[in-house]
Amino acid sequence: MNKKQKRMLIRIILSAVLLIIFNMFQVEGLLGFILNLIPYCIIGCDVLIGAFKGIMNRQPFDENFLMAIATVGAIVLKDFNEAIAVMLFYQIGELFQSYAIGKSRKSIATLMDIRPDYANVEENGNFLTVDPYEVEVGSIITILPGEKVPIDGIIIEGQTVLDVVALTGESVPKEVGINDEVLSGSVNISGLIKIQTTKEFDESTASKILDLVENASNLKSKSENFISKFARVYTPIVVYSALALATIIPIINYLTNNPVELSKWIYRALTFLVISCPCALVISIPLSFFAGIGAASSQGILIKGSNYLETLANVKLIMLDKTGTLTKGVFVVNDIHHSEDENYLIKLAAYGEYYSNHPIAKCIIKKYGKEIDETKISDVKEIAGKGIICNYKGNQLAVGNDKLMNQLKINYEKCESIGTIVHVSLEDQYLGHLVINDVIKENTEEAIEKLKEMGVKDIYMLTGDNEKVAKDVAEKVKIENIHYQLLPNEKLEIVKKILDVKPKGQKLAFVGDGINDAPALTISDIGIAMGALGSDAAIEAADVVLMDDDLLKLVKAIKLSKKTLRIVYQNIIFAIVVKVGSLFLGAFGFADMWLAIFADVGVMVIAVLNAMRILFLKKE
Ligand code: ADP
Ligand code: MG
Repeated sequence: MNKKQKRMLIRIILSAVLLIIFNMFQVEGLLGFILNLIPYCIIGCDVLIGAFKGIMNRQPFDENFLMAIATVGAIVLKDFNEAIAVMLFYQIGELFQSYAIGKSRKSIATLMDIRPDYANVEENGNFLTVDPYEVEVGSIITILPGEKVPIDGIIIEGQTVLDVVALTGESVPKEVGINDEVLSGSVNISGLIKIQTTKEFDESTASKILDLVENASNLKSKSENFISKFARVYTPIVVYSALALATIIPIINYLTNNPVELSKWIYRALTFLVISCPCALVISIPLSFFAGIGAASSQGILIKGSNYLETLANVKLIMLDKTGTLTKGVFVVNDIHHSEDENYLIKLAAYGEYYSNHPIAKCIIKKYGKEIDETKISDVKEIAGKGIICNYKGNQLAVGNDKLMNQLKINYEKCESIGTIVHVSLEDQYLGHLVINDVIKENTEEAIEKLKEMGVKDIYMLTGDNEKVAKDVAEKVKIENIHYQLLPNEKLEIVKKILDVKPKGQKLAFVGDGINDAPALTISDIGIAMGALGSDAAIEAADVVLMDDDLLKLVKAIKLSKKTLRIVYQNIIFAIVVKVGSLFLGAFGFADMWLAIFADVGVMVIAVLNAMRILFLKKE
């Protein structure tokens, strides 16, 4: 419990005790009135102030207002017990809710734990602890065992085991050594390492993720918007109905010379007001979404807003990118064809790919394995979906697929092997090609099967790779719809086409690794980036970020969103049924204020508890 909550608890206890004492020693008259005002003010002052502020801001119709007129009305009718009790239970409900929100915030806060607060730099042989903001790109920083990695970088000395659970939800520690990339937010478990930073603190993974999570609650879901609109219309209606209830029948009685019974009708109207408070809805729905986002992030699934949680639950069509999504994107060079000098071919390919981040590039550079002299290459152009053109010692070097060769009008040899073909040419001369193969991720097939079981109607594979590879992978993971040899804008066209023809309620998700598919991620109903750790483009373009490479996380994310939505609907229906029921009872005089209070607080507590279930759905 925090300070504010403790203060509230004290107020609740104090006024409850006073209420009991004053009931034991009934004091009549003015003194009694003043004495009773004490517990009322202790418990209700902030509600009264809130109501007053609401009136001054010309937006009077909120819960504070309902509670204030109901209790002031009760006091006027000399029902002090009721007035104090209404405030008391209302505040108990509020306390309960703030506690629940705190709890779900905490599960997000574990994630917040990734925020690094210092970096160790070495200067003239001395260690200095500095603010990570001050560390420039390319600096060398030291990370001791037990410390958090403050900034993304590459290990240049030492090896260790990293705990990445806060980043990915993956609890198995990761072994790393020289030349491996380390991401900020991971915790160094065993050895001392030195890294050369590759990014600024702001641009590092930990900062990016924190930004994203902190902004998540800004994007409201339709249900949340519905509730705030609902409350805006509902509360005035209730207030005017209560006014009508309090006056119409007494007026009729007066006109027909019957007993007026004004206080009886005012009492009923006040009961009606207490019952009608929409707290349960107003509170439990945002809380449910919040809990859903919290539960997801503790499993390495970042959802950028509750609206996306809602969309995710309605996903019926999924388009998957191949490289990096279905497959590991870790290519191995399997074959080299049509080349007189294999070493020369690999060398040129590696030089061409030197600046590229594409998984293909990484594997070729690894295969080459020697130092690359950057001064020999210039004017590097990466053509998405095709390959690379650059200037190598004054000659045009091209490294890429059939499309690239066609574009440059170079005669190339067709290749019959299954695999991604990377041709290499220098000026007009064709030098040969490499055949490289990717590996399908272990979980891909299982994930596709589960998605189908969950009612995803259509699964598509979109890839820039060639027909043979596409068909081979699709067959292995059982995807029926495939589109291949696509340029990034062609991927976009296909997404657009499907978006146009699909029924509106069925949502289309695009899942990609962010390389060459940011536009498709952006335009689909919901863009999901896979294994996005470290890939800025993907983190920015996507609506949902799966932190590691596991496609089963997608299944989890959809499941979690469905559960969250189910709980939201349960709460809406439950609250509305109980409210409408007790409103009728109140209006016809079958419910007194006590029942009203219990209905109100009871519904709220049950709804909040129901919402909190989401947090405990965590790991299965
Ligand atoms: P996917 O859609 O499977 O993720 P991409 O759109 O990233 O694939 O790339 C499509 C194709 O473009 C690759 O299969 C490859 O033939 C070619 N390509 C893209 N980038 C490069 C590169 N840096 N070097 C060589 N070929 C490339
Ligand atoms: Mg890709």
